[in-house]
Amino acid sequence: TTQTETLGFQTEVKQLLQLMIHSLYSNKEIFLRELVSNAADAADKLRFEALTQPELLEGDSELRVRVSFDPAAHTITIEDNGIGMSRADAITHLGTIAKSGTGDFLRQLSGDQKKDSQLIGQFGVGFYSAFIVADEVEVTSRRAGLAANEGVRWTSRGEGDFDVATIDKAERGTRIVLHLKDGEHDFADGWRLRSILKKYSDHIGLPIQMPKEGGEEGAAIEWETVNRASALWTRPRTEISDAEYTEFYKHVAHDHSDPLAWSHNKVEGKLEYTSLLYVPGRAPFDLYHRDAPKGLKLYVQRVFVMDQAEQFLPLYLRFIKGVVDSNDLSLNVSREILQSGPVIDSMKAALTKRSLDMLEKLSSDKPEQYATFWKEFGQVLKEGPAEDYNNREKVAGLLRFASTRGEADAQTVSLADYIGRMAEGQDKIYYLTGESYSQVRNSPHLEVFRKKGIEVLLLTDRIDEWLMGYLTDFDGKGFVDIARGDLDLGALESEADKQEQEAAAKDKQGLVERLKNVLGDDVAEVRVSHRLTDSPAVLAIGEQDLGLQMRQILEASGQ
Ligand code: ADP
Ligand code: MG
Repeated sequence: TTQTETLGFQTEVKQLLQLMIHSLYSNKEIFLRELVSNAADAADKLRFEALTQPELLEGDSELRVRVSFDPAAHTITIEDNGIGMSRADAITHLGTIAKSGTGDFLRQLSGDQKKDSQLIGQFGVGFYSAFIVADEVEVTSRRAGLAANEGVRWTSRGEGDFDVATIDKAERGTRIVLHLKDGEHDFADGWRLRSILKKYSDHIGLPIQMPKEGGEEGAAIEWETVNRASALWTRPRTEISDAEYTEFYKHVAHDHSDPLAWSHNKVEGKLEYTSLLYVPGRAPFDLYHRDAPKGLKLYVQRVFVMDQAEQFLPLYLRFIKGVVDSNDLSLNVSREILQSGPVIDSMKAALTKRSLDMLEKLSSDKPEQYATFWKEFGQVLKEGPAEDYNNREKVAGLLRFASTRGEADAQTVSLADYIGRMAEGQDKIYYLTGESYSQVRNSPHLEVFRKKGIEVLLLTDRIDEWLMGYLTDFDGKGFVDIARGDLDLGALESEADKQEQEAAAKDKQGLVERLKNVLGDDVAEVRVSHRLTDSPAVLAIGEQDLGLQMRQILEASGQ
């Protein structure tokens, strides 16, 4: 053993460890799911790299993970023959958190265990979950392709620091030994470990092996595979339970929470591929970070090729997680090749449609869960009409708004709901944008609508004005911003209304002239309006002018 050094964990890791140990005590067994999930990822990476460098397999191509235990020593060992880690890999991957925005996220922690434990779901759990049950974790590893004397031993008690040393390790891959805490010794039990593996890791494509029970004392261990060990998406839909789909989601998405919906499809014909897409149950903390992970896990003929293949879905669906397994792409496909081409283009179009269909189905079958989806991801979906002109009507159907008929400021009203209760003679969808719900709710622009009993959508998210720039109509009905230009209510106005307005306009001509003189260049025009019933005056925006929100955004950015 040479060059032992003690290094401190990154501050964020220390905070995460605290959070994990204190908030996941009711679900401790998930440490095994996380460590097996990492072993499966390591096997995928090795298989992929070995396509071009077969020597990395070092004559051992039967990839598997082995889970064993020693009840007397109170240890559990998880050993894989995947890609492994170099000393430098171990220091970065097991000592820091690479996700951008982690610091900001962890600073929001309140110290209230209940609230904080909700947050962990947004973060993912990962390797550090080993410290939920272990007070000492020992990782020995060697990266495939490195010499036997370039192995690493990483040990830590999960407090402030860890030790690393360079060691000899004959076999490539990673071995993790957990020294169980007092009180957690029961985990070192064959029956218990098997049932945890069955529950959480049955869907893992990699064989998970355990020592055969009842082996002779002193005889060589006989290993038996305890999971199904076939890639979940290759199995027929009818044979996969909801629990299996849910666990598989946690593995691919690196998420600790349950998904809201999934869509599993095998496409045959001109193109052949299988896709398994998921709608997560909650937004990751870094949803709005530019470099947050997005995209699908790409397999080619069941061989893992890359994580975060972003080319198969538009940006506004970046929250969708899952797997796509293609028979048409080549195994040495690169990110550059994925940029475009007929195969990618038609897969992207089909997967986009599948995702939108899945959301539509969720909204009609499970409105409560759709409301959760909307709360978590609605803002992202609002980018859709601008990014994806072809699907704008479909996306528009998925949008939800606050309205003068809705429940306070909750965004629950769909355009179909709105159209379904339009007034007699109404052929437009009326909306008002603004800074905040309380501001628009009390806007004088609403007076005439209130009087006539016409519903108005109330749009107060930052993105809304921009969104409405791309939505011209839905189901054949145009959108009208009621704060703009000369409001024409069309058939909603009776002949009597119109005559009354004309008379009023003539009557007030003198007042209009005086106001014009006083206000001068500050306004473009002064008009007698029929949109008010209680307020004496209102500022309206010209038909072609930028809306107030857009002006504020541009002013804030110095334009
Ligand atoms: P994630 O799996 O989401 O990347 P984890 O905390 O589970 O996060 O793991 C952190 C990193 O440590 C992995 O991304 C990987 O680089 C490395 N790692 C963990 N376990 C293994 C393993 N068994 N073999 C190789 N690398 C591993
Ligand atoms: Mg992991």
